[in-house]
Amino acid sequence: MLGEGILKGLAETARNFVGSYFSAERLTTVQYPEQRIAPIEATRDFPFLVYDGADWEAGLRCVACQICEKECPPKCIYIEKSTGKKPDALGKPQFYPARFDIDISVCMSCQICVEVCPFEAIKMDTEFELSTTDRFGGLLYDRKELAKSNEHYHKIHPTEAAAVDAHLAGEKAKADAKTKAAAAAATAKAAASAAPPAGGGA
Ligand code: SF4
Ligand code: SF4
Repeated sequence: MLGEGILKGLAETARNFVGSYFSAERLTTVQYPEQRIAPIEATRDFPFLVYDGADWEAGLRCVACQICEKECPPKCIYIEKSTGKKPDALGKPQFYPARFDIDISVCMSCQICVEVCPFEAIKMDTEFELSTTDRFGGLLYDRKELAKSNEHYHKIHPTEAAAVDAHLAGEKAKADAKTKAAAAAATAKAAASAAPPAGGGA
């Protein structure tokens, strides 16, 4: 029915308004900033870069593939790829971002960067108190300001972070098995070429 959604919304608002006089559960507003409501798990504000381990720089998952930079609708991501490589989460040598900036004043929190990242390297934070009087550079965050640990990711989005960890562990197990199989094949090949030809040496 046309307008059904609007009517449902108005009914819910009316239920909360009247109910708030009788039940604390229906009181959906608080006296911010003295009172705060913990963000729900699906809350998303601005992106951050996930790192593993204790060293933010060495542990960044980002491999500077620049897909997010290309797909960001308002073009507020700026990446410069490194010239050298470092091991990624699976131990494979990869480029990394020598520069990774996001202009938070332009970001529209669409989460497209997160959706397109093939490396689980960028996720949405729940931090929203970011206002500053520096309108020219205060909201242009560099990679150090954007870097947050996997523990932080688990704290704000536990279900999603656990699923990502399981996915990465599966990918690592597959990569390790492939490396092991390649090493075993190389050893077998070396042994075969070192062995004397059948029937020779008599
Ligand atoms: S959330 Fe959207 S607008 Fe913000 S950096 Fe990601 S892709 Fe760009
Ligand atoms: S955050 Fe993801 S998509 Fe963006 S450059 Fe890094 S690895 Fe690529």
